[in-house]
This record gives sequence, C-alpha cells and structure tokens, in this order.
Amino acid sequence: MRSYILPLLLLLSTAAVFAQSDSSKQPLPKLEHVNPDQVNAQIDPCTDFYQYSCSKFFAANPIPADRAAWGVVGPLSLWNEVTLREVLEAAAAKKDGRTAVDQKIGDYWAACMDENKIESSSRKELKRELDRIAALKNKAQLAGELAHIHSTVGSAWQGGDAETVAPMFGFGSNPDFDDATRVVAIVDQAGFSLPGREFYTKDDAKSVEIRSKYLLHIANMLKLAGENEAQAKADASTVLAMETEMARSAMDIVKRRDPKNINNKMTLAQLGKLAPAFAWKQYLAAVGAPSTQVYLVTSPDFLRGLDTMIHRRPLNDWKTYLRWQVLHESAPYLDSAFVNENFDFFGHTLAGVPKLSPRWRRCVHSTDARLGEALGQAYVQRAFPPQSKERVLKMVNNIEAALDQDIAQINWMTPETKTQAKAKLKKILDKIGYPDHWRDYSALEITPDSYLENVHRGTAFEFHRQLAKIGKPLDRQEWQMTPPTIDAYYDPQTNTINFPAGILQPPFFDAQQDDAANYGAEGAVIGHEITHGFDDQGRKFDGQGNLHDWWTPADAKNYEARGKCISDEYTQEIPEVGIKQNGLLTQGEDTADNGGIHLALLALENDLKSEGKSVDDKGEDGLTHLQKFFLAYSTVWCSEYRPEVMRVALLSNPHSLPKYRVNNVVANMPEFAKAFGCKKGAPLVHENTCRVW
Ligand SMILES: [Zn+2]
Repeated sequence: MRSYILPLLLLLSTAAVFAQSDSSKQPLPKLEHVNPDQVNAQIDPCTDFYQYSCSKFFAANPIPADRAAWGVVGPLSLWNEVTLREVLEAAAAKKDGRTAVDQKIGDYWAACMDENKIESSSRKELKRELDRIAALKNKAQLAGELAHIHSTVGSAWQGGDAETVAPMFGFGSNPDFDDATRVVAIVDQAGFSLPGREFYTKDDAKSVEIRSKYLLHIANMLKLAGENEAQAKADASTVLAMETEMARSAMDIVKRRDPKNINNKMTLAQLGKLAPAFAWKQYLAAVGAPSTQVYLVTSPDFLRGLDTMIHRRPLNDWKTYLRWQVLHESAPYLDSAFVNENFDFFGHTLAGVPKLSPRWRRCVHSTDARLGEALGQAYVQRAFPPQSKERVLKMVNNIEAALDQDIAQINWMTPETKTQAKAKLKKILDKIGYPDHWRDYSALEITPDSYLENVHRGTAFEFHRQLAKIGKPLDRQEWQMTPPTIDAYYDPQTNTINFPAGILQPPFFDAQQDDAANYGAEGAVIGHEITHGFDDQGRKFDGQGNLHDWWTPADAKNYEARGKCISDEYTQEIPEVGIKQNGLLTQGEDTADNGGIHLALLALENDLKSEGKSVDDKGEDGLTHLQKFFLAYSTVWCSEYRPEVMRVALLSNPHSLPKYRVNNVVANMPEFAKAFGCKKGAPLVHENTCRVW
C-alpha cells in the first residue's frame, strides 16, 4: 500500500516505461558525482540555475531510446538494475546450498526470462481467466468474479493522491484517519486505465487525440484475444464509454488532497445502501476480508455512479469491460504481441518512449515489485554499509534539530501551536535504508514453470497480506518501498520518514563528498520528507498520526496565507507543452521542496559552526560551501523529460517538473542570491519570496 502522501521523486513505473539499452550484458555504470566542472559557464546562474547546473550533462547524455526521462540519477538507476540482475542470475544458477530466498527470487527470474515458454503457453493461462468471465450468467455473479480478479490480476489501493489501479474499485486496508492505531478496510475509486480522470474529461485537441489512439489500442488488444474486427471496435467503444462514466463520477485530484474529503466512514450496512446493486457481502466473503466496523469510503459519489452503471448497463457490457481489464493488467506478462501492443500505447503514445526496454530490465522490476524484501536483502549487503547508515542517521538528527530551531524562531506562530508542532516533530520515527525485520514470503509459491501464474500468486499474496491487517494494530515498522528504490516518503498516519538504501547513493548521499554536497543533495531530500509532516496535508495530522486539528485559528490562517504564496507561485505556464501547472495540486510537494532545503542549509550551518567554519569558506574545489550546497541540490534534479511524459506529469503528478524544483526554490532564497552574487531584478531573485518553513 502506498503512503497517503506520494513519494519525493517522479518515477514512471509502468512496466513499459523503464529501459536503457539492448546489450545482453550491461556492465556496472559509473555513478555521477557533484563537481564544479559540470556547470555551463555560458549561462548566468541568476537567470537559470537549472540549465547552469544541468545543460552540460544533458548535451552529453541524450535520453536513451527506451526511457521516458534521463538525468544525473540515471546512472544510479542503471547501477541498481545491473546489481539486482547479477543477484538474480546467481540465485537462478545456484545448484547447491540454495536458500529459501534464492529459490523464490531465482525461480521468479527464470520464469520471467523464459521467453520461449511465455510465447508458447501464456495464452492458454490467460484463456482460463477469460473463460471465467464468459461463463458469467447474471449480474449477481459480478461480485464473485471481481473478487477473483482483484485477488489474482490486480487490486491495489494506492492511497490518497494516486489513482488506484483496479477494475471497478480498489479494496484494501488503511489506518483509521481518526485513530491511527487501528487498521480498517478501505474502498477507493478506480476502474479506469488512463493515468487520471482528466484524461477522460478534457476536451482539448491533444486529449481528444490520445483518447482516439486509446480506443484503437483497446480494439487491438481485444483482437489479440480473439475478437473479430467489428466486434473489437464495438467493444472498445463500450469500454471507453464505461471508463469515462467512472472517471466522471470520481473525485477530482485536488479535492482528494484534503484528507477530510476522503475520510468517509461507513458500516457495511451503509455501504450496501450507498451502492445496493453490488453484492458487497458476497465480495467480502470471496476475498476473505476480516470483518470490521469501519469501511473508509474515499469517494461516495464514485460508488453512487458505479451503482447506477451496474443497474443500467447489461451483463454483456460488464463482461466486455472485465475482459479488457484482465487483458490490460496481464499484458506485460503475456507473449510479445501483447507486450508490444501495450508498450505501443502506454509507453510510446502516452509517455513518448520510442523503444521497449530489454527483457532483463523488465524482469528486474517485476521481481522487485513482487519479492522486493527478498531481493532487497542482497542489495543492502552490496550497496549500503553500516558506516553509510550511521552518517545518514546523523544528518537526519541534525535536520530534525534544525526544524526544532526553525519552529522556535518563526514569528508567525503562537507559542501554543509551536509546542504542538515540536511535539509532533519529536514523535517522527526515522527509518533508514531497509526494514529491521524482512518480510516472510514462505506462504508465496513461486515456480520456474509459469511467469503469469507467479505474477498472479504474487498479487494474491500482497492482496491478502493487506487484508490481513484489517482489525490489527498499526505496524509503524513496515515499509511501503523496497530497499533499492530511488525514492523516499513521509507517511502522516505512521508519522514516519522513510529513506530506502536506493536513494542513499551518489549523487544523493556520497561517502566521497564533504558535508556541503551531502546536505545540498541528500540533506534537502531528508528535509523535504520531514517538511511533509508540516505541509498543507501533513499539518492536519498530529504526532500520533490522527487527523486532528492542533492549530489555533489565527495560526492556521497565517499558515494558509503562506501556503497560498507557494501555490500562486507554482501556478505557471509550461511552455514546452502549452498547459498550465496547477499550483494547488503541487502545493504539498513544493512546500516540502522549499522547506527541505532551508532545513538542510540550517543543519549545514550548525555543523560548520561547531567546527569553527562558515558556509562562506571555500572548499578544496574553489567553491564556497554555500555554492557547493546549491550546486549539489540542483544536480540531483537534473532530469530531461520527453514532452509527452511532461504532459502526463502535469495532469496527474503532485510534483513540479525538475526545472521548477530548482529554479522556483532558489529564487525564494536570499542565501542563493548571496552565494552567486545575484542582483535585485534578476530572474531568480523573486521580489515576492515565499516561505513557510
Ligand atoms: Zn514529497
């Protein structure tokens, strides 16, 4: 299950979108390190600090043909993938002394890499799923079949801002918003396959074009499953019409950012009244959900809409819809005709990627997705020594101390609210690198015989693991990301900050670098996640993880004025794609970016002071610590996007584009102007600077 607040990085993780080269043996790439030679002296840092720091890298490193984006972090993602491949190949080849972990990851890998077998047998396995749908005799049987699909093909409730990916609706578990110690059931809006409801509701030329290509894609998939041309065309129209109806009744992505809007608690009887056309009891019995007093219904309007659809639409439409959903969810694990058709729309058309990634990289990510805490053990051994953990923990402690100091110093908050903020800060649990206890996969059967069946059993394992939490106390120690993930998150309901080992590598955390570089790159990431506890969403939760207002009305008003400064600043034209960024969608992430870098800088200043030094002193490379700090900050965001994926991000992702994560942030900071001698009136010296934390 995803954290309620989305992670730090924009990662495009559909199976089709990762990729690099086709070479069968990829050597370990060289990692990038922050250095003064990377800057482009032709560009004035006060005009465009992002291009000043990044353009030399971009010129020398065009986006590879099978990637949607590429940047300074690219070599790290490839390094991780190659490392994991070596681990997986060794596990698959092992004959003697094979551990239980070797067996799971080795056999999963072997089945995924066995292209011949997938080409010859995956359609037979798929047919079993399609036959079940074809055999449905009445709408009362929909609930039982949906339960089967959710627990084999896919169902994950992904949390808050993210759109849940599942047919009809998402079902899972979540901490109670009012009492985070207990876990309850959650029913979320879902059912459509494009990346968000905007893709169905917008009427501009680009949106219309994407939908017409989507319609063709659905028809092509149905043809691959055996339908004739005319039938496939008619069925594709039915699917698009049904997904559009679901999208129209779904809650808007900005409204969804306010946790109060999704905190709708119901009993099973109330849920039944809300959507009586669906046989809830039958569904819950079939998935084996533990009984609970509370069902969190994120979007009652969505379920009302779904209920109307179940009433009005004939059984045949539902069979068509479920057939498409099963094909769509299964495509990456089927033979090459399905893989290529799926890539052609979701990779090429939607994300702009010219070429499908090599199989080995798709298999690395697939193993990580289903056996991440088994595969991650070997990654941690190879990539994350105890000394790194120790140094990162010290940075985390120093940055938390910086926020404590910041809260004490700010002039817009009363002592009453300050005490509450400090109490919440004290309760944050810091999780660094990997879990203390690894997940036990012994109940998950993995064989070298069938990739699709391994995927289905893996999905079932995760679905039931999520459901088993209902009625149990919340486990704050659990991780929602795997160790090699290059990302991080704050979870308001556990009040935890989480940094997988994957983001504690160069150019983020770099054991070869001094503190200025490490605080600028990794420190700003740490500060970002801590700030999420106090952004426009996080501030609504207390230290126990409960949705509880601890602000005086006057302080809340001051906060909102400061937050509006940020959301106004980031509501801006994006010339590359001709649409506007919605600053209300990105407000939380932008607040975290701006707050995070302040906290990291304050921690660096404190560290240097304790050694009798200052940020204005020069390091060995001739840069002042302050210049190096900002250069390191910018470096990790150097990332070029294809225009197609930029558009997807603007419509559906709560993070700003990398350029603005750098330029808007530094333009708010007098310390930046000082470091690079920027004068009043320069593009990156904003007259009206925004500051929350
Ligand atoms: Zn974030």
